Amino acid sequence: MNNTIELENRYCAHNYHPLPVVLVRGEGVHVWDDAGNKYLDMMSAYSAVSHGHAHPRLVKSLQQQAAQLAITSRAFYTDKLGPFLKRACELTGMQMALPMNTGAEAVETAIKAARKWGYKVKNIPANKAEIIVCNGNFHGRTTTIVGFSSEAQYQHGYGPFTPGFKLIPYGDAAALEQAISPNTAAFLVEPIQGEAGIVVPPAGFLKKAWELCRKNHALLICDEIQTGLGRTGKLLACEHEQVKPDGLILGKALGGGLLPVSMFLASRDVMNVFTPGDHGSTFGGNPLAATVGLEALNVLIEEKLVERSAEMGAYLLDKLHSIHSPLIKSLRGKGLFIGIEIDRHKASAREICERLMARGILSKETHETVVRLAPPLVITREQIDWAVERIDLVLKEMGKRTATG
Ligand SMILES: *Cc1c(COP(=O)(O)O)cnc(C)c1O
Repeated sequence: MNNTIELENRYCAHNYHPLPVVLVRGEGVHVWDDAGNKYLDMMSAYSAVSHGHAHPRLVKSLQQQAAQLAITSRAFYTDKLGPFLKRACELTGMQMALPMNTGAEAVETAIKAARKWGYKVKNIPANKAEIIVCNGNFHGRTTTIVGFSSEAQYQHGYGPFTPGFKLIPYGDAAALEQAISPNTAAFLVEPIQGEAGIVVPPAGFLKKAWELCRKNHALLICDEIQTGLGRTGKLLACEHEQVKPDGLILGKALGGGLLPVSMFLASRDVMNVFTPGDHGSTFGGNPLAATVGLEALNVLIEEKLVERSAEMGAYLLDKLHSIHSPLIKSLRGKGLFIGIEIDRHKASAREICERLMARGILSKETHETVVRLAPPLVITREQIDWAVERIDLVLKEMGKRTATG
């Protein structure tokens, strides 16, 4: 057994089940292990590394700002936060933002904002505010957030949970209409469900949800922590249906693959429910994060990574469709956010990921049946060709085994 793996297993809580590879370096779409083997990263840290590993412009901005001024807390103004949030608001069409660090904190911020808006603006009776969420949702791991998960494992042993959430089937506008009540503050939704296995809702769902929210004076809040910033081939996944949410949550790629950077964005009338002391974060909006975040947004636009995601994603999906394997149940996704659903009776997604790793491709299964393909958005056509060849080979060798029993 590899000593490094043993050490981590001995001292780190076993809340993950990593593939048996020890990574030591990353550059662009590639990472290297401790034996010098090179891999194509088709995981990008759950889409946090959309810009690629160690993007030179991002590393430079990180280094310069780290030496200049890194952490101040928001007890003071800094010269970096305003420009970062201005850029984020202008790009997404939002008016104000509240900076946090991890995705879950930004989701918590959205929940707090929605409830406070419900009481202050919509006049929902005290402690009656409801937030509607979807089956299969993934919004993070805090006790409040897992409390409205439909996934037994995310909840098991963590109760009691925060009340005030209602679950509806994902993609079901009629169920949303039924669930909305005068006490509904918000509908919180992922435009495409990532952790559920790259689940794309029926066309028109998000648009209908937006209409229902407007009609019932409820906020539509899109969690674009994973789908946002170009991952699905648009800057925001809700643009696929020309939807403009009342609240937007960004994270992951916002940190340029270098730092945890997240934010909740909204209109002025939603964000103004917060007053000094209502909510906060020691690290949220620090000048180091703001500098890297701003540069991450600039690189995304200047290097046309959103357009690349659309083009390369379509190319990858098209190539995957040309693989004829009985192990594939379905292919789905938008942009470079693609899931290969594996027939659970024929193979395990975990084994496919292990075999892909042996051939130099890193991915990770989600829910035992889906192989996620979400490489950095800087991936080239040639790199996609290389990857698809290997995916085809792995499916063929496993298919042969299934066929012969
Ligand atoms: C990853 C993710 C989160 C949680 O982000 P963390 O940074 O892990 O807290 C929330 N929502 C969605 C849609 C995500 O993909």
